[in-house]
Amino acid sequence: MSARILVVDDIATNVKLLEAKLSAEYFDVVTATNGIEALAICERGEADIVLLDVMMPGMNGFEVCRRLKTAPSTAHIPVVMVTALDQPSDRLKGLDAGADDFLTKPIDDAALFARVRSLIRLKSVTDELRQRALASRRLGIADPLVAAAAETGLNGRLLLIEDRPLIAQRLAQALSSFHSVEVEGDAGKALERASEGDFEIVLVSLDLANYDGLRLCSQLRSLERTRNLSVLMLGEAGDQGRVLRGLEIGAHDFLVRPIDRNELLARARTLVRRKRFAERLRDSVQSSMEMAVMDQLTGLHNRRYLDGRLSGMFDESALRARALSVLVLDVDHFKAVNDGWGHDVGDEVLREFADRVRACTRGIDLVARLGGEEVVVVLPDTPLEAARAVAERIRARVEGEAFPIHARTAAIPVTVSIGVASRRAGDISAAEMLKRADEAVYRAKAGGRNRVIVSSAA
Ligand code: GH3
Ligand code: MG
Ligand code: MG
Repeated sequence: MSARILVVDDIATNVKLLEAKLSAEYFDVVTATNGIEALAICERGEADIVLLDVMMPGMNGFEVCRRLKTAPSTAHIPVVMVTALDQPSDRLKGLDAGADDFLTKPIDDAALFARVRSLIRLKSVTDELRQRALASRRLGIADPLVAAAAETGLNGRLLLIEDRPLIAQRLAQALSSFHSVEVEGDAGKALERASEGDFEIVLVSLDLANYDGLRLCSQLRSLERTRNLSVLMLGEAGDQGRVLRGLEIGAHDFLVRPIDRNELLARARTLVRRKRFAERLRDSVQSSMEMAVMDQLTGLHNRRYLDGRLSGMFDESALRARALSVLVLDVDHFKAVNDGWGHDVGDEVLREFADRVRACTRGIDLVARLGGEEVVVVLPDTPLEAARAVAERIRARVEGEAFPIHARTAAIPVTVSIGVASRRAGDISAAEMLKRADEAVYRAKAGGRNRVIVSSAA
């Protein structure tokens, strides 16, 4: 897993030392000796992860971190603060500034690589989402990165798995000032609750009396219904080996006992924020993908999707010597509906029209609204005669029952003209087939509308 790691430190020997360790593990290393330089490198997208010294002249590490984490263009980059002393107050300042993790000088190699690998794993997921979210921004959808970066990380839904009642109570009490917390002492029940409850973070004690906490973490990370939860391990101070093992199997973060109240709050908050950041991006990706290929009025596919798919369907049918047909549908005198009843009723009619077309087609057929009152249906594995039958079925279904309008208080008659064409051996592209279907629908209009015309003559 290669990644570009930015090492920021004002002292050259510190930079050299980290650079040597990381290069030996095949990471690409970029370096900076002050905050301004570091910000510029991140802004240009040249770092996947930042190892940031706290004590620097000019802008200190906390300020650099705060700026990175509040800018939508850099908020997703994981930051590890490197502190000279293991000062709880420094850790808190760092967490407040949005740092993802800490390392204490002198740096322990095992801890360094475990942190870096786990953060890179996290980032590769976020990166993918972020790229797609950026694409949706170009489509003019509200900027998901700004919304995601503004997430506060408060009011999280937490499940604490700890079987010692007094400890559980103390932790739950601390957390409940900012989040809602439930406690479970039984590991088996915990897994069940984690998969059924609506939690965001699971805090797992690694010192349960009757169950291996690491195993629980691994189950939480692998089960379908819990794999999206963030896992925070609670371990003993002397248990570094198990904690590192936990990070390897996918736990997101850890705390060692005795647990500092403020650090507990800060880490929980960071996890909630990070998780929601990813979720917001995921949602925006989902809706932008749908918007990109769906027609918003009717829920049919749109022209863009048809353009993207049709040539593939055409080539496929030619390659496998299978039939391929296409219908072009155009509602008759639709302008009169708009003029007589208003545009909203026109929209109602279009939605009903789409529903009826959909009801007459199969799942593998492609139904797309070209715009206005024109719809195209692509029918794979369907020869001309069968396609004519489908078209006739649609025509009859449209004419058969008047279209309900004004919430079913009235109904108006609607008819449709349909042109049908199939792929011919001489066709070079789908455009030729589509053109014949278009000409056929024109003839259907000229011939009196409410009819199916098949383009059959060679
Ligand atoms: P023909 O039988 O020859 O097809 O006549 P027509 O009136 O159906 O055809 P024409 O293409 O002249 O009119 C289509 C109308 O569809 C004109 C346009 O205002 C209307 N239209 C296009 N898109 C929408 C829409 O999204 N909603 C509504 N309500 N009307 C639309
Ligand atoms: Mg029309
Ligand atoms: Mg038209």
